[in-house]
Amino acid sequence: MKLLFLIVAYLVAITLPLILSAWVGGPPRQFHQELASGLGILAFSMVLVEFILSGRFKAISNGVGLDVTMRFHQIMARTALVFALLHPFLYQGTPSGGQRPWDPTRELTITTDFSALSTGIAAYLLLPSLVLLAIGRTQLDFKYETWRLLHGVGALLIAVLLLHHTVYAGRYGSQPVMSWVWLAMTGVAVGSLLTVYLLVPLLQKARPWRVTSVVRLTPKQWEVTVEPDGHRGLDYKAGQFAWLNVGHPPFSMKENPFSISSAPAAGPEISFMIKELGDFTRTIGQIKTGTVAYLDGPYGNLSVDGRAEPGVALIAGGVGLAPLLGILRQMRLTDDSRKVKLIYGNRVIDQIAYREELDPEDVVYVLSEPPETWHGETGFIDAALIDRVFSEQEFSEWVFVMCGPAIMMDVVEDHLIKRGTPSHRILSERFNYD
Ligand SMILES: Cc1cc2nc3c(=O)[nH]c(=O)nc-3n(C[C@H](O)[C@H](O)[C@H](O)COP(=O)(O)OP(=O)(O)OC[C@H]3O[C@@H](n4cnc5c(N)ncnc54)[C@H](O)[C@@H]3O)c2cc1C
Repeated sequence: MKLLFLIVAYLVAITLPLILSAWVGGPPRQFHQELASGLGILAFSMVLVEFILSGRFKAISNGVGLDVTMRFHQIMARTALVFALLHPFLYQGTPSGGQRPWDPTRELTITTDFSALSTGIAAYLLLPSLVLLAIGRTQLDFKYETWRLLHGVGALLIAVLLLHHTVYAGRYGSQPVMSWVWLAMTGVAVGSLLTVYLLVPLLQKARPWRVTSVVRLTPKQWEVTVEPDGHRGLDYKAGQFAWLNVGHPPFSMKENPFSISSAPAAGPEISFMIKELGDFTRTIGQIKTGTVAYLDGPYGNLSVDGRAEPGVALIAGGVGLAPLLGILRQMRLTDDSRKVKLIYGNRVIDQIAYREELDPEDVVYVLSEPPETWHGETGFIDAALIDRVFSEQEFSEWVFVMCGPAIMMDVVEDHLIKRGTPSHRILSERFNYD
């Protein structure tokens, strides 16, 4: 229902300027000219809605998940790029130049006024660069934070350039009503960027946290715990995540998303289970207790709160345990009567975290490179293992929650669907949306 609402809201937002332009109208033109304008209008409104999709709006990402929202953001950016690239070529054959006596409002000609065209040309060059840089980000040797800054500034520049081009060169955009519509839409898009980078940090400044412990869980995994400093903390659901900034000013953009591995019922302290990966996560061991931290959250839809299914299946690969541990802890602390089973896969035995806390009755451990003395499951979390752990009745009645490597989640999801688990009973979180 939520998904349907979001899809409708998206379609309305991107087609609104197109519909209004058609309503504003003008002298009839050839089809290819209308198509050219239409694609340009659609590309611009899609670019503007991209700001909202990536703007950390809980109404969007908490409904469908951040990974789904970001994937949609990526696909729509590429679609908008195709529309934008086609837009000028479709005008071919259209008279161009200055004002004609028979066309005083320039409705039937396209302008060659350089100032109106130059902003369009600049946006035309910048948009593919922005999209290609995002696609090739992981291959390029610069920091994630640098890319993020470039992406934000580039997007802002494109929005402003397109606004100028649309209002001064567009036959529809130059109509006063449409100029105001575009100005308002650009304002909302830029506003969402300012919310994330200015308003949220400002609010965070008034709600600092302090690191209370940093514990090495396994050779490359850590537990970081923070407590609210002078406020009541975060109102979250087990399984959600937050952006964590440790030791940097709130405006620094040095923040990373991590699932909350503690349970709300345990009190205001919040724990994260963090695997070493890049420049921030490799320095976790150096964090001193008492360091100031800032949190932005909670986000995400990986929650089993209030669900009616009689059982909860948790399927974790490596550090994907983090949100599922939060769910398991919350169920234990609240004496949740639902049944629970956890499948927890790792490569080697040293990577298993929280073994002393996890109840062996609840957990099926899986190792892909087990030691000779290992008596548990071996190999990967695959269809055969899932079939060994869950009964036919559990497939059809339980809710399945999973987090781990993309390949594991794809295999498990496909198999659950094959076994008849409806998609609304399969919840997942991806740590990587590349
Ligand atoms: C919703 C969500 C929940 C997550 N939960 C956990 C968790 O519980 N435990 C855990 O160990 N990891 C988790 N991750 C992954 C974690 O965010 C990255 O491993 C971490 O940000 C890497 O930062 P780095 O500076 O060490 O590495 P970098 O080398 O800077 O980044 C490595 C990769 O991590 C991702 N990344 C880095 N910074 C950000 C950012 N600010 N926003 C989004 N992605 C970023 C990018 O894909 C990047 O290519 C989660 C990710 C997401 C999206």
